[in-house]
Amino acid sequence: MFNFRNELTGAFGMPIDENPSPVMYEAGYRSCGLNWRYQLFEVDPADLECAIRSVRTLKIAGVNLTIPHKTEAMKYMDELSESAQMIGAINTIINHNGRLIGDNTDGKGFVIGMERRGADLQGKTIVMLGAGGAARAIGVECALKGCKKIVIINRTEQKGRELAGLIQAKTGVDAEYLSWDAGVHIPACDILVNATNIGLYPDRNKPDICYDDIRPGMIVQDIIPNPAQTEFLKEAGKRQAVTYDGLNMLVYQGALAVEKWTGRHPRTEDMLAALAKCQENTEV
Ligand code: NDP
Repeated sequence: MFNFRNELTGAFGMPIDENPSPVMYEAGYRSCGLNWRYQLFEVDPADLECAIRSVRTLKIAGVNLTIPHKTEAMKYMDELSESAQMIGAINTIINHNGRLIGDNTDGKGFVIGMERRGADLQGKTIVMLGAGGAARAIGVECALKGCKKIVIINRTEQKGRELAGLIQAKTGVDAEYLSWDAGVHIPACDILVNATNIGLYPDRNKPDICYDDIRPGMIVQDIIPNPAQTEFLKEAGKRQAVTYDGLNMLVYQGALAVEKWTGRHPRTEDMLAALAKCQENTEV
């Protein structure tokens, strides 16, 4: 008999409307020959526990978590992956026959995106702007990949210091905090990452740093996925840096989630092409 029920996956967040994940995930499912769906759910923080309970009730196969749920959702999981425990945040829930497993694919997606572009993190010095959920995941995974040093520059000193301390304590990699004064000088480094919200649509600002510290050949990565070409990347490009946009990280963290939910390997080229097409058609 034909089965009319499509497996459902999705994302819980607030705001969520401008998240392009459905087109990317559904392109990934199609590349695996699966007719799975991906739906965005606007979930108020006060309703998070109830929403997570519905994952079991409705037999939703998997869910991504985005702002502001990545930390809070941890307490409703039956199990946490090792990296989720280390990072202290989850972006993916896997529903394994009613048992909810919290995982974090953000940092691994970042690392794979770098490696696929030929960047080797081993022995590198990274300067990262931001100390939020994404920065925590990136910092921990880059340290586990063998980078030499991570410098965190963050607006809120306490969060910046906390992240530097966490990286140092959990991975043993040298990490330090630098306060974010206006036009802050960027210490000598191989890779500069913007892991703040600055530049996320509709914001057209760029981080307030000394752009003349960017050297030709330095890798400059923005994790903002929308727009792909941020003002931050444009400034870096003017100084002959090698620039990477946020779409790659989005695709690889998503591909890891698809693998965990479906057991299949999606074609990342298809996921990236779907995202790029969607950006072409969206005025940003
Ligand atoms: P969080 O809210 O956890 O962290 C936001 C960070 O940005 C904090 O460090 C915050 O500093 C900083 N920040 C925000 N506004 C400013 C400002 N005006 N000036 C200076 N610093 C500022 O968010 P996430 O870490 O979860 O997400 C950050 C960004 O990364 C989002 O735009 C998201 O879209 C993107 N992202 C992209 C992914 C991808 O795959 N490409 C995956 C995950 C996230 P403070 O501590 O002082 O508040």
